[in-house]
Amino acid sequence: MSLIVHKYGGTSMGSTERIQNVARRVAKWHRAGHQMVVVPSAMSGETNRLLGLAKEISDNPDPRELDQIAATGEQVSVGLLALAIQKQGLKAKSYTGWQVPVRTNSAYTKARIESIDDARVRKDLDDGYVVIITGFQGIDEHQSITTLGRGGSDTSAVAVAAALKAEECLIYTDVDGVYTTDPRVEPNAKRLQKITFEEMLEMASLGSKVLQIRSVEFAGKYKVKTRVLSSLTDPDMNLTEEAQSGTLITYEEDKTMEQAVISGIAFNRDEAKITIAGVPDKPGVAYKILGPVAQANIDVDMIIQNASHDGMTDFSFTVHRNELNKALDVIKATVQPEIQAREITSDPEICKVSVVGIGMRSHVGVASQMFETLSKEGINIQMISTSEIKISVVIADKYMELAVRALHKAFGLES
Ligand code: ASP
Ligand code: MG
Repeated sequence: MSLIVHKYGGTSMGSTERIQNVARRVAKWHRAGHQMVVVPSAMSGETNRLLGLAKEISDNPDPRELDQIAATGEQVSVGLLALAIQKQGLKAKSYTGWQVPVRTNSAYTKARIESIDDARVRKDLDDGYVVIITGFQGIDEHQSITTLGRGGSDTSAVAVAAALKAEECLIYTDVDGVYTTDPRVEPNAKRLQKITFEEMLEMASLGSKVLQIRSVEFAGKYKVKTRVLSSLTDPDMNLTEEAQSGTLITYEEDKTMEQAVISGIAFNRDEAKITIAGVPDKPGVAYKILGPVAQANIDVDMIIQNASHDGMTDFSFTVHRNELNKALDVIKATVQPEIQAREITSDPEICKVSVVGIGMRSHVGVASQMFETLSKEGINIQMISTSEIKISVVIADKYMELAVRALHKAFGLES
């Protein structure tokens, strides 16, 4: 008998009918002899609705109160799910984050889990209960309710699985796994049976929205076997079949399977580029430009500095698109008077496309294959950055889909 954690997203919890499907699935697992802990999200649309109410009252709402409000969505979910599981003839008991408690820091609206007390949950499990714990929330040292940021129920589930040393954490969602790329852009994208944590982490931080990034960090750190799978399948389907569906996120590289060089292609349209042209190429310039930007709490992603000409150079970097205006303000007010650049320009119409794969460690030529593919399509590369297992390029936004499809094909990812 093993302990299993199930997480259900908002769509799976979207109506009382769907909640009863969740209950049937959980009951099936319980009857197969597993101890079950379930972590649901709020019903779909509910968190948006709650935050919308807050926005109707205040443009700049107090984050502590936002958490107080947003956390109620999950409280409703756990109660309804407990009733539905009881209706299946099982014992079920629900808890909110503070009742467990799930302890977090006090960074309201983006809190981090610090510890989870497992005593109450374990006692209930030993007494034969299915235990249901709210996703997305916890409690801080001031006894205030906190939330973990949008999509945070994924992290709650993995953290609960880590705390209870669960056999596996199954994340039920409205897609049936992790794909080589977004099937809406490339219909030939295929589901990956397995992906490593490192790759998943890159995919999540580069724009794949399947899991909250922090949940993947948690899964990697505590070695929680995590699987992403569909909640839209028949809840009564054969358990062995179900247990093997979806995508498994593993911490072991699979030596037996032939490893593709590239596992997936990620993209995101959230960035904008700033170019500062004609700045003197001397020590301290990068610092003079990026220091004030960092001080304004603006994250910078990619950076390039061109080779210098007559002692002058061009400097470009990307920021989140939402922060473009803020960054330009800082540069005009603080940076420009100091460096006297010839020109400051910006371009929000860019996107970042990345190829990800641990296979890159043992294969040379991935970068050149990527660049060749883009050049054949006539796509100009504006910036490049690499890590051990990914290569990212910035290109014009209008070429994003073309680039993703061409790369998907070039690296043999099609189904
Ligand atoms: N209900 C929260 C949200 O919509 C948390 C979650 O669903 O993961 O972001
Ligand atoms: Mg989600």
